[in-house]
Amino acid sequence: MDIVDSAARMQTHALRWRAAGNTVGLVPTMGCLHAGHAALIAEARAACDRLVVSVFVNPLQFAPGEDLSVYPRTPEQDIDCCRACGVDVVFRPAPGDMYAPDASVTIEESQLSRGLCGRSRPGHFSGVLTVVAKLFNIVQPTLAVFGQKDAQQAALVRRMIRDLNMPVTLLVAPTVREPDGLAMSSRNRYLAADERSQARTLNQALMAARALVGDGERRAGPVLERVRAMVATGVPSGTLEYVEIVDAETFEPVSVLTGRVCIAMACRIGRTRLIDNVMVDAAPPGQVAS
Ligand code: AMP
Repeated sequence: MDIVDSAARMQTHALRWRAAGNTVGLVPTMGCLHAGHAALIAEARAACDRLVVSVFVNPLQFAPGEDLSVYPRTPEQDIDCCRACGVDVVFRPAPGDMYAPDASVTIEESQLSRGLCGRSRPGHFSGVLTVVAKLFNIVQPTLAVFGQKDAQQAALVRRMIRDLNMPVTLLVAPTVREPDGLAMSSRNRYLAADERSQARTLNQALMAARALVGDGERRAGPVLERVRAMVATGVPSGTLEYVEIVDAETFEPVSVLTGRVCIAMACRIGRTRLIDNVMVDAAPPGQVAS
């Protein structure tokens, strides 16, 4: 396994692979790798000749006052994890190698990024799409694997690939969870013990919402109310930033559930911001939801 710190050297590697006819997989991460990342890496490993994992805490996607400076970094464990997963190259550029001091080109999306995390984190998705586009240019992947945990991010990357004709296939892998249902996240390590035990309610609330839809509820209001009530009771240290039901493709809020929808939430517990979501197939009344 190689560790490549330079974007130019990474691109040379990648162009050579592609010229030789290899398929190339890319799993972009911000490091502090856990079993969720490992599952994405395994998907890419199974599908590609060459596999790159990028580890880059992208300053462009953090707003002032967010956790950029304290974002957890575990470089040695990340290398061990990548080696164990059969990664060919860990690409971990320095911020200065990714962004020229006078960099002035970014990628903006104007529809899917308006709600949910886009509303609460202005500029976040522009930072995400810009770095993902740069990683695609540097690593030249034929396949990129993202996690369903960041559902809005995955939908935005899909839209960018479509709208900018990027020659990359996107694979979105399921959310990997702790035994009590909490979505694995690098940020979980910020949680104090009592916060960690409260955090399990987040997924339980989403499961309860999904069960309500399964029982035939099609109005968004009561479904959202169930989530809010459960979080209010089960996460006393938490502040629900949002819970919304959006169309799974357009990420537009829906008031009546039809077709495939995403129930997504963000919650602050103490100083930790956690997100989670579930996809739900809301079959029309009279049909059985799958
Ligand atoms: P991050 O390092 O948090 O930026 O995440 C890198 C990639 O891993 C993103 O595509 C995330 O959606 C994905 N990811 C993070 N946590 C999980 C998880 N628990 N299950 C599946 N994928 C995840």
